[in-house]
Amino acid sequence: MDVDFMEFCPKCGSRLEPKKSKTGKESSLTLVCLKCGYKKSEPGTVVEPKVAKFIQHSPQQFVAVIGKEEQKLNTLPTVRVECPKCGNNVAYVWQVQTRGADESSTQFLRCTKCNYTYREYS
Ligand SMILES: [Zn+2]
Ligand SMILES: [Zn+2]
Repeated sequence: MDVDFMEFCPKCGSRLEPKKSKTGKESSLTLVCLKCGYKKSEPGTVVEPKVAKFIQHSPQQFVAVIGKEEQKLNTLPTVRVECPKCGNNVAYVWQVQTRGADESSTQFLRCTKCNYTYREYS
C-alpha cells in the first residue's frame, strides 16, 4: 500500500514515510521524515483514494453520422434492374415529376453497387 505515494521532506529533502494513525473513527496519515523528524499531517489521505475523472460523453456523440444524401438513399425503394455500367442487378428508384403538366414523370435509377445514376423513361 502507498507504493506510488511519494513526498519529500521540505527540510532535508529525504523521502517521507507515511505513518497511519487512527483518531476515533477517522484515520489519518502522517508523513514522517526518518532523518530529521519532520512530521506532516495529511488527514483523509488514506480513506480517500484518488479516483480518475472520466469525461462523460453524451450517447449522441457515438451515433454514426450519416450524410443527408445517404439517409435519403436508404429510404428509397430498390428495384431489380441490371446496371448498364457494372452489371449489378439492384438499383434505387425514384421518380421526378417534370414541369410540364402533360409530361410523364421521369424515373431515376441508381445502382446500389457503383452509384451509377441513370434515368429510365416510362
Ligand atoms: Zn527531513
Ligand atoms: Zn453499377
